[in-house]
Amino acid sequence: MTGLLYVVATPIGNLEDISARAIKVLSQVNRIAAEDTRHSSRLLQHLGINTPLVAVHDHNEAGRVQSLIEQLVAGENMALISDAGTPLISDPGYRLVAAAHQANIQVVPVVGACAAIAALSAAGLPSDRFSFEGFLAAKTSQRQTQLKALANESRTLIFYEAPHRILECVQDMAAIFGADRRVVLARELTKTFETIKQCTLAELCVFVESDTNQQRGEIVLVVDGAPEDSGLMAEKELDALLLKLLKYLPVKACAQLAAELTGHKKNALYDRALALQQMK
Ligand code: SAM
Repeated sequence: MTGLLYVVATPIGNLEDISARAIKVLSQVNRIAAEDTRHSSRLLQHLGINTPLVAVHDHNEAGRVQSLIEQLVAGENMALISDAGTPLISDPGYRLVAAAHQANIQVVPVVGACAAIAALSAAGLPSDRFSFEGFLAAKTSQRQTQLKALANESRTLIFYEAPHRILECVQDMAAIFGADRRVVLARELTKTFETIKQCTLAELCVFVESDTNQQRGEIVLVVDGAPEDSGLMAEKELDALLLKLLKYLPVKACAQLAAELTGHKKNALYDRALALQQMK
């Protein structure tokens, strides 16, 4: 029998945000693969768990995967945790989980905190469709290129950002997405200085610049998507088309043909064509 690989979410601040199932799994597995063993041993000590830890982080994951998979194949049960929140979400673990699937090892998620989802759930911005963008590039020019590529994205956008880059990042967003775009700053979620503020990007620039406390701690930005492009012809172009057609056709036929050409409603086109004809 091969072992199971549990992917276990841990708290993102408030230590009470760990599930009873997570505690049970972390106590019962043979080994816990942790991003930073010193950091995680504090959480485990708090929970009274003394399962052996093995370090799996960005710099050693590729080299460690093979031996961890061998232990799983030999029947050991293992849990994967990161420093905070859900492993693999802007955190290590992808290679291990991918290798587990290749080795036909069952991967079991033990769900819990994730800063992106916590921020979205409290943001009050459309949550039916969203795009998680993780961390933007640290270099200004690269970050601006990434933001330009997202300027017309209509889904709600979720970003993680480092506190020392937050002001620059929000200023770039205001310049590229538009100063009036709505945004939510979700800072220090589940912790003492939790801040959740919804405003425009222009207002957020002022808020963050004028209060340096807002440039500290852990931050998620949730940004409203761009307005949906309906794909329909704009009003000005529609008027130009109707005026052209009115030169050759009566109002009713003009509305009919314009409706077929543009997809706009015939009745609305009829009213507009009539108004344009009377203005002539
Ligand atoms: N795996 C984690 C998760 O599930 O959210 C994310 C890990 S990523 C390395 C760390 C980033 O997540 C932080 O820089 C911040 O953007 C965000 N984050 C983590 N904890 C947070 C919190 N309590 N409040 C706000 N953002 C947080």
